[in-house]
Amino acid sequence: MQQSLATKTVLITGASSGIGEATARLLSEQGHRIVMGARRTDRLQSLADNLNWNGGQVVYQQVDVTKLTDLHKLVELAIQTYGGVDVIVNNAGIMPLSHLNALKIDEWNQMIDVNIKGVLNGIAAVLPVMNEQKSGQIINISSIGGLYVVPTGAVYCATKYAVRAISDGLRQENDNLRVTCVYPGVVESELANTISDPTAATAMKSFRKIALKPEAIARAIAHVINQPSDVDTSEIVVRPTASPA
Ligand code: NDP
Repeated sequence: MQQSLATKTVLITGASSGIGEATARLLSEQGHRIVMGARRTDRLQSLADNLNWNGGQVVYQQVDVTKLTDLHKLVELAIQTYGGVDVIVNNAGIMPLSHLNALKIDEWNQMIDVNIKGVLNGIAAVLPVMNEQKSGQIINISSIGGLYVVPTGAVYCATKYAVRAISDGLRQENDNLRVTCVYPGVVESELANTISDPTAATAMKSFRKIALKPEAIARAIAHVINQPSDVDTSEIVVRPTASPA
């Protein structure tokens, strides 16, 4: 299939590791202009230096996605540097799994703040710009945990179900926007580091044996972006071939 070769200005949250970092690398190699956000700016700086050294156009800013003002600043950076925003990848997320009985209420709230409100903040920051230009693309990273629930995953899965609902509502309400919800299966990354519950951490070790490289998800995101503007890949699930569920 013929693909559009147009280069885009792409905002990526959570670009300091894992799927976000791999996506920044791949899209930069493809010639897209990248605007990265995350809290660890040392990581973002070395990634930006590396990509720019290799001919990329990459800038970054410290972003905590739970703060709408930080997302507004990221959009402003994109406009100041590259003249607009074509795509946002709302990727930042955390996954401190545990049984509900463990009552890790602070972690429930953190997941709701980062995984749901963080996505909404990203959407809120780009919508006025995209509505004004009558075009844009919003790619939200859910999970296979947004398709079914597993023990220890009640709250995490709830946040990823929410990302699915938000993405579908956004798509239905906007004729000019391409909206994609991405559902990755297990992927090698730093995500499991956010698990504080020992039982959930042990279970995750065996689950992650078949993990995909983050580049697999980056390729799916790049595919979605590189489609012609009249094609909206609204949902995409990427699992390890050996995944039982
Ligand atoms: P990583 O932990 O490697 O990356 C998570 C990213 O989110 C980091 O860059 C981190 O940056 C950022 N982040 C976390 N909290 C915040 C915050 N408050 N503000 C800004 N950035 C934040 O994990 P993954 O790459 O695996 O995760 C990326 C997405 O993919 C997540 O939404 C996750 O739920 C989803 N996913 C992952 C799967 C997997 O198996 N790995 C499977 C399915 C979905 P920093 O700490 O520097 O702020």
